[in-house]
Amino acid sequence: MHNKGCIFLDEGINFDLNTVCDCCISHNDGRGLPILIENYHGEEIDWENLFATKAQRIKDFQKEIIFDCQGCYKIDDYTFNQTKKISEFHFSHCRSCNSKCIYCSDLYSSGPLNYNTYPIIKDLIEKGYYKSGGEATFQGGEPTLMHSFDELIHLFTSNGTIVRVHTSAIRYSQTVANALKENKGSVVISIDSGCSSTYKRIKQVNAFDNVLDTITKYSQSAKENPENIIIKYIIIPGYNDSIDEIDKFFLLMKKLNIKKVALDIEIQYARKYENKDVSKHIFFIVDYFKMMAKINNIICLTYSFLSYVLNNRSVGESKLIKFKPLYKILVNLNNDKSKNIAYKR
Ligand code: SF4
Ligand code: SF4
Repeated sequence: MHNKGCIFLDEGINFDLNTVCDCCISHNDGRGLPILIENYHGEEIDWENLFATKAQRIKDFQKEIIFDCQGCYKIDDYTFNQTKKISEFHFSHCRSCNSKCIYCSDLYSSGPLNYNTYPIIKDLIEKGYYKSGGEATFQGGEPTLMHSFDELIHLFTSNGTIVRVHTSAIRYSQTVANALKENKGSVVISIDSGCSSTYKRIKQVNAFDNVLDTITKYSQSAKENPENIIIKYIIIPGYNDSIDEIDKFFLLMKKLNIKKVALDIEIQYARKYENKDVSKHIFFIVDYFKMMAKINNIICLTYSFLSYVLNNRSVGESKLIKFKPLYKILVNLNNDKSKNIAYKR
């Protein structure tokens, strides 16, 4: 027996397209997402049964880390509570989206709205299997298009769960704005650009002004806690991997009074080149992005796929970074366009 574990095995639930799982984490060659219920599409849940499945899985895990979890970065020192309560919620089942990002899986955009989770969560609360103090993460697709999205946000925030919403921001939600105002939630909005033409090239929808409008309103709601608005920039080689685009992005962040950004790299690129064969200019782009965040006094998070690529970076930071015209030349000289991905859309 070991003392390792993970809160999701103990208190987590993830609603997916056709399954209910402990978590929404996919890692290590497709492992992760331990299934609790197969072939699930919104039916009533027998909670005692679900917790019995969790209890058996925890027992197995304590003997030896189970296959689905082997190599997962979420495993840490952990004491299982087994109180038969859920505190960590993920909603990953909505495949409908109002954006058409070039790098997105075909499952999205034209996908179904899928099942309604509101009655399930209400039932969980009413039957005493709910634990407040955790987080509910909404992702997608575009979660604001989910069945009963606003009702769910309200249900969680009024019962002591923090909400995290990954949204395109094309649709404004007053309920999300209320959660931001009360410091009961945060939003992550991936705009990947600093101007409408690059936005349109990547997102393939004409919604830049709309998105800026939503960000402005959310920022207004979150003015006491501006770090609850996170604007994400996914580096997409061949589309937004230039010094000029990053300059435009940070000008926009200043204009919108954004205090936190997140940097990542497009997942298909990260997986194709892993951490050994990445075009050198990507590392220079990352360094420049981080420097610009620092100069503008903006917190910069880096997400998992970028960390994956940066783990064994092949080039160090260039001394030319402070001399923009020279740095631009260096970045261009090291740009291996042959490695860019040709997206299907
Ligand atoms: S260890 Fe990883 S894969 Fe296993 S339940 Fe936790 S987060 Fe999910
Ligand atoms: S916003 Fe997300 S789900 Fe929608 S098209 Fe873009 S990547 Fe796909």
